[in-house]
Amino acid sequence: MADIPRTSAGRYQTEGLSPQDFNRVFDQIQTDQRKKRRRARSTITPFLLKNKSLDDIIKLGRRKGGMYFTKDDLKGFERNRNDARNTFQNGEAGITYAQLISHSQQIDIKRANNKVDNGLGITSATPVSIKHNLLIVQVKASQASHDQHHRVKIRFEQWDALLDELTNDKRKNQAIVRQLCAGRLSFDCDCGRHQYWYRYIATAGNYAVAPPKEYAYPKEKNPNLKGVACKHVIHSATRLQSPAWQVRVLQTMLQVAKQVGYGDDRRNTTEHISDKEQKALNRNRKSQTNAAAMKREWDLYQRRQVALGKKLDDENGGIDDLRKQLTKSKSLTAAQRKKAEAVQAKLQKERDKNALLKQQLADQFQIRKQAFIDALVMTGMNEKDAEAKFMQTVKGGRQ
Ligand SMILES: [Zn+2]
Repeated sequence: MADIPRTSAGRYQTEGLSPQDFNRVFDQIQTDQRKKRRRARSTITPFLLKNKSLDDIIKLGRRKGGMYFTKDDLKGFERNRNDARNTFQNGEAGITYAQLISHSQQIDIKRANNKVDNGLGITSATPVSIKHNLLIVQVKASQASHDQHHRVKIRFEQWDALLDELTNDKRKNQAIVRQLCAGRLSFDCDCGRHQYWYRYIATAGNYAVAPPKEYAYPKEKNPNLKGVACKHVIHSATRLQSPAWQVRVLQTMLQVAKQVGYGDDRRNTTEHISDKEQKALNRNRKSQTNAAAMKREWDLYQRRQVALGKKLDDENGGIDDLRKQLTKSKSLTAAQRKKAEAVQAKLQKERDKNALLKQQLADQFQIRKQAFIDALVMTGMNEKDAEAKFMQTVKGGRQ
């Protein structure tokens, strides 16, 4: 695209472009930046960070202050990168609006709120197109900038899950899109601040809209990996918290949700937002980022997470108690069973004893009967008559 007109500052002309041309120009800017990036020398690659070979460290040259980088510098950088990963990565892509704002640098928020007097503040941002879960925002560059605009890309990472929640209930749908816009977002901006300060953290933290990704440590610009986003991203993300923009996002969500087999068919369709619509979207009063409120919300969220963790621990403790009780009751039952078995054994013994007694009684009866009969037989009576006489005596209760 060699025919794009340039401004007197030598930048591409981006004023008054249609959404299609706006995206075409910024795609070209992205390509130009990538070419330039490939020519970059003395970058700290992931390989160098991991291996810290002395030859490679020397090749990095001197830093701004005139000193060479050392192995300890690289160790510090590696620690910072791991901290950034731990802060922003939870296995899921994107970071929430509250986290974005509460981890941003004060200076970036001030510029996003146009609360600086050096011409670096910004005032306006407008969505120009929406491609499935990717929102393209045109941000007017600051007065001090050589550029006219910057392009911010915001991807809604909870799109698919929340799409499934939509119904015909208007109020519920509004709550869903609010959740989407305050939820996990990934982003990118073509400006230098994002490129040299923040894209590396966004890549490490898994909230970069890629390409481009950045793997080279920002050793000069942001060696401590502070902050999260440039003023353009902050301003756009704040505007996204307004009902005006959310209504537009919801419109696309509903369209996509109503498509049969929405997942793949729609992914390549870009909806361009007309001038008329853009004007309506500019009636967005939410231009000021409230960093303190977001910090409170983020702290609250973290406290809730801690409380939840504690609750789960407590519940696990409860389960342990239950398990102990159960083991105890099992052992009680065992003791009881033993006792019952003893009682059973005793009973059986009694029964056996009774049986023996009965037998003895029966035996005694038999002995007495025989003695009675024998006595009568001795008197000359026959055995049959003697037995009948004995039975008669027993029944009559006499002997
Ligand atoms: Zn930017």
